Amino acid sequence: MVHVVVLGAGLGGVPMAFEAREKLGAAHRVTVVSNTETFQFTRSNPWVAVNWRKPEEIQVPLEPVLKRKGIDLVAVAAARVHPAENRVELVDGQSVAYDYLVIATGPELAFDEVPGLGPAGHTHSICTTTHATETAAAWEAFCRDPGPLVVGTVQGVSCFGPAYEFAMIADYELRRRKIRDRVPMTFVTSEPYIGHLGLGGVGDTKGLLESELRKRHIRWITNAKTTGIEADRLRVTEVDDEGKDKKSYEVPFKFAMMMPSFRGIKAVMGLEGLVNPRGFVTVDRKQRNAKYPNIFAIGVCIAIPPPEPTPVPTGVPKTGFMIESMTTATARNIRSLVDGKAPAMEASWNAICLADFGDNGVAFVALPQIPPRNVNWAGEGRWARLAKVAFEKYFLRKIRNGQSVPLYEQMALRIAGFNKLRPEAAEAAIKKTMP
Ligand SMILES: Cc1cc2nc3c(=O)[nH]c(=O)nc-3n(C[C@H](O)[C@H](O)[C@H](O)COP(=O)(O)OP(=O)(O)OC[C@H]3O[C@@H](n4cnc5c(N)ncnc54)[C@H](O)[C@@H]3O)c2cc1C
Repeated sequence: MVHVVVLGAGLGGVPMAFEAREKLGAAHRVTVVSNTETFQFTRSNPWVAVNWRKPEEIQVPLEPVLKRKGIDLVAVAAARVHPAENRVELVDGQSVAYDYLVIATGPELAFDEVPGLGPAGHTHSICTTTHATETAAAWEAFCRDPGPLVVGTVQGVSCFGPAYEFAMIADYELRRRKIRDRVPMTFVTSEPYIGHLGLGGVGDTKGLLESELRKRHIRWITNAKTTGIEADRLRVTEVDDEGKDKKSYEVPFKFAMMMPSFRGIKAVMGLEGLVNPRGFVTVDRKQRNAKYPNIFAIGVCIAIPPPEPTPVPTGVPKTGFMIESMTTATARNIRSLVDGKAPAMEASWNAICLADFGDNGVAFVALPQIPPRNVNWAGEGRWARLAKVAFEKYFLRKIRNGQSVPLYEQMALRIAGFNKLRPEAAEAAIKKTMP
């Protein structure tokens, strides 16, 4: 019997546990180590922040769901991974031993890297459901007494989508409340241009998102380094294409939501051979670490170099479908190892993203997410927002039912050409098993 431990119970971790259970069967043990007792659907946090969702609507208690699937839950945070000893030390002093470890902890939020950034400073956050809930209370107070609004991303950010989503949703909600005329809005971003998204853009996201900001009368500053944040203003330096300081701004605000940069969690930070200097786990396309081959990693916690240098540093987003592809490859690769075979499955890292802009929405398909791509498409319309709402309901239903990828979903994705595994690697693996 092997013991697979999944560290983290978010968008990657919970489906990972389901898929590992499915692929390994009842003869093997699967345990989830989580610092929370609930699954949180992070993608709906922007809706929580403007009171379109209650936090409990996007959370699922982990214990009953995992128990039903025969998966153990240890609801205690990890303090340190000890890769040479095959164990995870918990904050209560206990340890969980593993044969295979899948790290799926998402990021640590690096608010401390910009003075005044984050809930302990002067800006709000939507990165966790707890943050989004606190932001919702502040949003109501702001709407009672509105003023200038700033939304954006600081240097080093890799997750740009939620900032665009929050800006557009805020604009829509302010118009709905008929107070938009009292709210000058500014979008401040570390991207070299609007719609870059840490990906060199997808389709014409540049034109599309610029047009959305223009239509909504949201002015913007790109190539922006946020040097400090005070109670009522953001200090920003815009740089030129060479990264040299070009212009300084003081952007006043009464309400600000700025995305922080991410880094790896403390439990793995500094572990040589396992993580890079920012604490992101280094893995190959099989999601496997080179120094510790019984450790896999999926989701935001993995290291992926940016596709191109940008004047202000930006990172690569790790989006939902891309994370699902990492999960599927990892479950199959662990199964191969258990069977004494070499792991062969490579995640496609394909991306399909939906963003809600209140009165309409945007979608993009990037196959694969990192350029150059076979499919590079972005479009907008009310259908994209409806699809996002439908996806939320579908995904949460799957989590409540303990399902990862039902057969009908697998077939639909295959017909649409949205592969989770790289076809070349999958074909090579099949050929190897043929006589
Ligand atoms: C606000 C927001 C909106 C987003 N919207 C979209 C979207 O619409 N579409 C899209 O494709 N992508 C979106 N993303 C990007 C990405 O899909 C999400 O960030 C996704 O949740 C990442 O999944 P993950 O499993 O890597 O990390 P998470 O979902 O963050 O899960 C990590 C889990 O590990 C736990 N953990 C952390 N430290 C420890 C520890 N020491 N011990 C035990 N457990 C620990 C955390 O509590 C958490 O439960 C969004 C991201 C954000 C922040």
